[in-house]
Amino acid sequence: MAATKTPQISIIGSLNIDFVTTTPRCPVAGETLTATSLSVSAGGKGGNQAVACGRSSFTSESTQDVSVSMIGAVGADDPYYTSLLKPALERSGVNTTAIEQSSVQTGSASIVVEEMNGENRIMVVPGANHAGMMTGVAPILSALEKEEPDVVVLQGEIPRSTTIGLLEHFNAGNKAKVVFNPAPVFPEGIPLSALQGTAVLIMNETEVVQMMESIGVPSDGELVPESAAKVFHERAGVEIVLVTLGAQGVCYSTRSGKSGTVPGVKVAKVVDTTAAGDTFVGYFATAVARLLATGQSLEAFDDVQSAVEKANAAAAMCVQRQGAMQSIPFAYDL
Ligand code: ATP
Repeated sequence: MAATKTPQISIIGSLNIDFVTTTPRCPVAGETLTATSLSVSAGGKGGNQAVACGRSSFTSESTQDVSVSMIGAVGADDPYYTSLLKPALERSGVNTTAIEQSSVQTGSASIVVEEMNGENRIMVVPGANHAGMMTGVAPILSALEKEEPDVVVLQGEIPRSTTIGLLEHFNAGNKAKVVFNPAPVFPEGIPLSALQGTAVLIMNETEVVQMMESIGVPSDGELVPESAAKVFHERAGVEIVLVTLGAQGVCYSTRSGKSGTVPGVKVAKVVDTTAAGDTFVGYFATAVARLLATGQSLEAFDDVQSAVEKANAAAAMCVQRQGAMQSIPFAYDL
């Protein structure tokens, strides 16, 4: 069915500068060590997912069939950071006019990657992501006013109270449907009342267990994605539940009874899995926005399996490339 309007996605989330230090090993307390390299790049789950939405909507190098905008905040601390973040989004077809220039520092992630095993240690300073506009629902809704999104995408890197307020607002039947990726899961969880009616919930294996506990369903240690999905359909009325399983692929389930597992794409070499989850979220959100813009409802989403397959293929391409944002493929590359 043809779209009756241009599909619109708004991502409400974090923008970070990633400082990635690669080192043979992590120093012990009090030790100074010569590391191998430092890279400074644009990141944050909100920013990564915005780039994934943007890139997934380029059907050719010059054709973008979905409007994508980012609602977030950067600091006024150093113009260099802003110059890294905004252009990175814009080059991926993301409108950045609603990004607030906050008076506090840009959010940052200091990431140490140990060369011998690829393990990372990450410290996030939320900065502007937890200040100004991002601390309240009303300013975010007013920033969204002109956009009339079909889909809003939320994660867990802005204040919990804002996230809960936005879930309650959109899940109460306001026009936009929510694609929620509760990553990282807030230590205090998300109340069931706020989750009620969420259109799409996307979690990895750790997050699904944490989210079940957060709505009062303790896990018995062993995750069965299909049973977990049922919990969210029945208790929280979630329409589509997606559990990403790393190299094993993705398990999907809809409230109307469609379900299945799409196996992970076998790749020659996994270079870096950073942003694989964000790539999956962005690609799936784009498929949802395209459907809704035709006037159809999520219950009529017959192509849910092919949307999962496409997002799974995009995420597999991401793991074969180094870095976060830069590793997210454009749709015409798939
Ligand atoms: P990350 O935090 O690394 O971005 P995540 O923990 O949120 O990822 P995962 O379940 O690890 O999410 O991966 C998301 C998706 O990426 C998977 O469902 C799959 O589609 C793809 N993927 C991840 N790892 C691999 C892999 N080794 N081979 C192929 N595809 C992969």
